[in-house]
Amino acid sequence: MNCPGGMLVYKNSIHSYREFPLRLGELGLVHRHEASGALAGLFRVRTFTQDDAHIFMTEEQIRDEIANIILLYKKVYSVFDLKFHIELSTRPEDKYIGEIRTWDIAEKALAEACEKAGFAYKLNPGDGAFYGPKLDFKLKDSMNRIWQCGTIQLDMNLPERFDLTYIAEDGTKKRPVMVHRALFGSLERFIGIITEHYAGAFPTWLSPIQVKIIPVNLNYHTDYCKKLQQLFLENSIRQEVDFRDEKLGYKIREAQTKKIPYSLVIGDNEVQNNLVTYRRHGSQAQVTVTVEEFIELIKKHRFLKGLGIAFLLTLLLETIQLITTVGYFTFNDLVSNTLGYIIGYLVYFLMNKFLNRKVIYHIFNVFTVFFIVLSIYGIVNTIVHIEIYDLDY
Ligand code: ZN
Repeated sequence: MNCPGGMLVYKNSIHSYREFPLRLGELGLVHRHEASGALAGLFRVRTFTQDDAHIFMTEEQIRDEIANIILLYKKVYSVFDLKFHIELSTRPEDKYIGEIRTWDIAEKALAEACEKAGFAYKLNPGDGAFYGPKLDFKLKDSMNRIWQCGTIQLDMNLPERFDLTYIAEDGTKKRPVMVHRALFGSLERFIGIITEHYAGAFPTWLSPIQVKIIPVNLNYHTDYCKKLQQLFLENSIRQEVDFRDEKLGYKIREAQTKKIPYSLVIGDNEVQNNLVTYRRHGSQAQVTVTVEEFIELIKKHRFLKGLGIAFLLTLLLETIQLITTVGYFTFNDLVSNTLGYIIGYLVYFLMNKFLNRKVIYHIFNVFTVFFIVLSIYGIVNTIVHIEIYDLDY
């Protein structure tokens, strides 16, 4: 049902300005009778899921709330490495509802929200919907194609039509401002966009099948493959074993054509020594590692973000240490520490670009632990010193 359904949910109870901004989200299943010739893959379908949310607020809240939404969009799109730009569409020349004054306030609030969130926007004068101005998010994929995706639409029509009200600060009933907030637009369409964006080779964390296990000989290697399957299952690694009676080369080629991130070839050596030999999609190199190392490798795709957090934590601790030692710290210390952070990040960035990620993972684990311990020691040490200082005088 989506939008009208959202209005009915709002209307179900009495609302106060204190609740605002009130955010009601829904994954709404919607249908559209497209002509069969107009259907195109996941891009144009007859049944799809909209991630539309309806946010109710006062006029004064528009700017801040929308600036927050823009930052949310930025965060989500960056997960998929999608770049975007924003377009602001304003009041149409003739066919529009509501008062010009309200339009002006809303358009200004949308423009200010972009500025507050730190984004430039392209102006499309007269391109808004009849019910309100909107911000459209145009995504740019890896091939520099532009896709219309998320939108933030201010709607003066629906609150009016459904006679929505809230109790204002002065006790009177007022009409809330409502925006439609769709980040993906249509989930199906978004899956289409990222499939094009990655050209089907999804990153490991996102890939539906992360590992394809291929036994060299079904008679000898099946048990070991089943054991691996169980182990991967326990470690939440999405895998499939190719038990078909086909030639080995054919199975390996197929796994590569299907763009599965890792194919494992399991033969005598692997079975006898508890190893796996993997081949990364798009690479010819075959690497043999222990099963534990391989599990770590796949999990690391999830951990890499955690690693960033560990680093931030370290920085935070260092900063606390700096603050608690103010007085003992000279300006030079501050400069050298800051330089240290910058160089550290630069090294981290370069390693990420050029080194095997498994190596980085271990190095940084060790360093992070080392620095955390060092920082805690520093803080404790400082506190102890301050007490001694107090006692002496
Ligand atoms: Zn809506």
